[in-house]
Amino acid sequence: MLTATACASDDEGETTSGGVPLVAKGTLTTCTHLPYPPFQFERDGKVVGFDVALIDRVAKELGVKQKIVDTPFENFKTGAFLNSGECDLAAAGMTITDERKKNVDFSVPYFDATQALLATAKSKVTSLAGVKTGKRTLGAQSGTTGESHAKEQGFDPVAFESSDAVLNGLRTGQVDAVVIDYPVVQSWLKDPANAQAFRLGEHIQTGEQYGISVKKGNDKLRAAIDKVIKESRADGGYNRIYEQWIGPLPQDQG
Ligand code: GLN
Repeated sequence: MLTATACASDDEGETTSGGVPLVAKGTLTTCTHLPYPPFQFERDGKVVGFDVALIDRVAKELGVKQKIVDTPFENFKTGAFLNSGECDLAAAGMTITDERKKNVDFSVPYFDATQALLATAKSKVTSLAGVKTGKRTLGAQSGTTGESHAKEQGFDPVAFESSDAVLNGLRTGQVDAVVIDYPVVQSWLKDPANAQAFRLGEHIQTGEQYGISVKKGNDKLRAAIDKVIKESRADGGYNRIYEQWIGPLPQDQG
């Protein structure tokens, strides 16, 4: 039987009553890479979004508060910040891939994503094929699945460090089109200035699924995250945060 009190395992960290190790006492520390709307971005000085809301539920389950740390995207592949004890988990609209699984453990999938092509209106490009035939410049976010997809299709996309930089590359005309996760494009296009300047092109069905990553072997935390994902899908909590941050629920979703 679990006891109600948490016990400190060392000076800084703690193990919750459920046996989940935490790198900082009273805190579930999340590493992310800002901004990645609608999953995590700053609004009125606060980091908010779909992933933030989901991990808040995990923190609640553990009886602690979530703290968010902004880290370079490269960390998500190597798991360095998890191994060094900087963060308990990473939540970054991050796709579960076999390559990443070599370095980190993933929760059950919590989001189905696709890639999208977004182009400047004046380029008139609507597809990757069109980028090629029109000899247009393509951009992507460094280290992401969008970048890998473009490379697999024979492109050598201009690499940007963050989603912000990707958007800026389009705005300044450094690139004519970009490949990036569709939900991010959707969120950009809510801004009338973006909707006017850019056009949504093809949807690329990559079959991607997002997962929350933890340090390899941190099964206790992974199990707690899985439990929250499954429970929130069952109790309607998932749908509520989906509608709040993403939009109307897809037809095929319960
Ligand atoms: N889903 C993409 C990936 O995992 C992009 C994630 C991100 O840029 N935060 O590579």
